[in-house]
Amino acid sequence: MTLTKLQLHTKILLAMVVGAAAGLAANRLGLATFVVTYIQPAGAAFVRLIGMVVVPLVFASLLVGITSLKDIHSLGRIGAKTIAFYLCTTVIAISLGLLLANLVGPGLGLAEQAKGRLIEGAARQDAAAEAVREEPSIKDVLLNIIPTNPIRAFAEGHMLQIIFFALLTGVCLTLIPPERSGPAIRFFEAVNDVMVMMVHLIMKVAPFGVFALIAGVVADFGLHILVMLAKYCVVVVVGLLAHMLLVYPSALRLFTQMGVGRFFRGIRPAQLIAFSSSSSSATLPVTIECTAENLGVSRTLCSFTLPLGATVNMDGTSLYQGVAAVFLAQLYGMDLGFPQQLTIVLTATLASIGAAGIPGAGIVTLAIVLGSVGVPLQGIGIILGVDRLLDMCRTMVNVTGDAACAVVVAATEDRARATA
Ligand code: ASP
Repeated sequence: MTLTKLQLHTKILLAMVVGAAAGLAANRLGLATFVVTYIQPAGAAFVRLIGMVVVPLVFASLLVGITSLKDIHSLGRIGAKTIAFYLCTTVIAISLGLLLANLVGPGLGLAEQAKGRLIEGAARQDAAAEAVREEPSIKDVLLNIIPTNPIRAFAEGHMLQIIFFALLTGVCLTLIPPERSGPAIRFFEAVNDVMVMMVHLIMKVAPFGVFALIAGVVADFGLHILVMLAKYCVVVVVGLLAHMLLVYPSALRLFTQMGVGRFFRGIRPAQLIAFSSSSSSATLPVTIECTAENLGVSRTLCSFTLPLGATVNMDGTSLYQGVAAVFLAQLYGMDLGFPQQLTIVLTATLASIGAAGIPGAGIVTLAIVLGSVGVPLQGIGIILGVDRLLDMCRTMVNVTGDAACAVVVAATEDRARATA
């Protein structure tokens, strides 16, 4: 069973286009409430279905992956390569975002009147401010990787904690005699197989889910607010496209034999789900399927790099945070010098690592970036209106970056094995 089946692609794409058209029509005809109330829940159900698989799939696949590593030392090497790739691409993404935002100056031309209208959404602003207050510090984010109670980590879906616990459990399983570890490993292999099968089944209803999600967003959101913030959005989207079409292909060319066309064709179903769900974590099972089935990366490697990537590697998010910080600074008439821009690079790296792979996480951790250079946090209220749309785009890049990393690490591992 493969996810590249043309039929599924075409159906999801078609569902997107029809969903957007239906949403726009509903928005114009004043039927937005109807769509949001009666159609969007079908999309939410689809996202929940994929979300349901995430925790058992990540735990089982990571654990099975580690126990199947012939050489446990390779785990350290793979881990180092994965983190190095994630960090490098994140820093490139932020720098690209800063460069574009400084060149174009999206916040310089916005009329006072338009600004006033955008800041009006007081309730939304309050909600954002509330979320910001709850955001833990960087120290807490790092400490939180170690679960005090693994069961709570599972129940609350703390991905980094689950990864940490799965890693340790997997390593310990390899350290005890095979006759003792065997039953546990076989159990988790079966759990893994069941979850993979579940993803295949869920993907069958993907077109309906995608239709409902897109129709809901467009109906609710409309297009007029987008026009006001068009320049800002265009800078973010151009940056995301440039990053996706220049950085990943370069990495693929540099480290792998894989054609760029094959890579993008293989990862497309995951990109489409990421775009419509705005959640790297919810997309994770599909990302794993695409990377393993379509791009030929071993499930062992996928199960390590991709769950980690879904949580810590967010190139799209960090690029967007760079643009948003400069945009808001320009809007507030602030001049950001080189030291401040460097601070943005550092804080946006941490903020994107700290952001969960869920819708809207990036705009919450944006507060860390804004706070570090003194841009008023109220600015979040200004860009909140268009955030959902940009969230869709940046999540797509986030997921693409995770898959690119898996392909690159797999290729370098193959080469290392071949020369050994
Ligand atoms: N929605 C993004 C993701 O899941 C995170 C963000 O808000 O930027 O990857």
